[in-house]
Amino acid sequence: MQEEKFYEELLGLAFLRIDSVEKQSGKLIIHCSYQSEGERCPQCGSVTAVVNQYDHRQVCDLDISDKQRGRPAVWLHMRIPQLVCHTCRRYFTESPDWVQPGKSYTKRQAKWVFDMCAKQPFTEVGALVDMNHKTVERLYYQQAALEVNLAQRYRDVRKIGIDELAYRKGKQDYVCVLTDLERGIQLDVLPNRKKRH
Ligand SMILES: [Zn+2]
Repeated sequence: MQEEKFYEELLGLAFLRIDSVEKQSGKLIIHCSYQSEGERCPQCGSVTAVVNQYDHRQVCDLDISDKQRGRPAVWLHMRIPQLVCHTCRRYFTESPDWVQPGKSYTKRQAKWVFDMCAKQPFTEVGALVDMNHKTVERLYYQQAALEVNLAQRYRDVRKIGIDELAYRKGKQDYVCVLTDLERGIQLDVLPNRKKRH
């Protein structure tokens, strides 16, 4: 139990609860479940938290230990709710905002691979993270496009507002919301792992 709590803090991924940790040679498999307070229906926009069944999803995350030779990969084996919208009856599976949409890796893993590509060829990065070099190359160009969008989003901002909001009621977990004060639009939501009190 102590160990699960330790890994939960270390990963710091919103709404992720760790059930057990399995150490295999060259990889760390984290069995976990994702449970948010509800998600917006992609069809009609109503917020629902009604679980129909659970799906399973495997995503690769950043290495969190490099003590062993060959840097073990971290795999999150997630139990993830399929929700049903009570307004339009649509079924959909939740998608944590820290997972790259439609991919089998986290956003921060993508960022890390992207940064590595600036220093070495795609083939070497691929060998390091156990990914096909073609996949690494695709990831690199997708990430490059995202970075350009991000830069454009901030380009015209003159006054920024920072608000702390609780994302789990009563749990004292906070996120920082960045707002463009002049245009009144939300720019970004950043994790804040510092807890109050
Ligand atoms: Zn709906």
